[in-house]
Amino acid sequence: MAKVLKNFQLMELGGMSVLTDKGRAEIGDTLGLTGCEISVNSIPAERGSEFVHAHKRNEEVYLILRGSGIFYMDGEEFPIREGSVIRVDPAGKRALKAGKEELLYICIQAEKNSLIQKTFGDGVVIKDVKTSWL
Ligand code: ZN
Repeated sequence: MAKVLKNFQLMELGGMSVLTDKGRAEIGDTLGLTGCEISVNSIPAERGSEFVHAHKRNEEVYLILRGSGIFYMDGEEFPIREGSVIRVDPAGKRALKAGKEELLYICIQAEKNSLIQKTFGDGVVIKDVKTSWL
């Protein structure tokens, strides 16, 4: 359950170890995301995706947070490890497998070519509001 305020939602996963049991936490619906889906995922050691998948419209970015393993992509397999960041086009046929340790990663999914502006192109500095550290 998320804490919901105007312009703000806060969700607590309860620590990454909770994923070891569930395997996956989808954040989008809980937080009310409208432009992307974010999931936090865990694959137990020596196990892998139970299927290869692609998407209709969405590209994905996989951020490997912990562990290592294999990323299958369109017939090729390559090693991944903590710090690997992988972008996949919608049509890419993909799957993951954990190595000798649990593989923990975040997957961000958004419609390809939907981003109009970002970072400083979209951000607005609010000069008349101060926080406790400003
Ligand atoms: Zn996917």
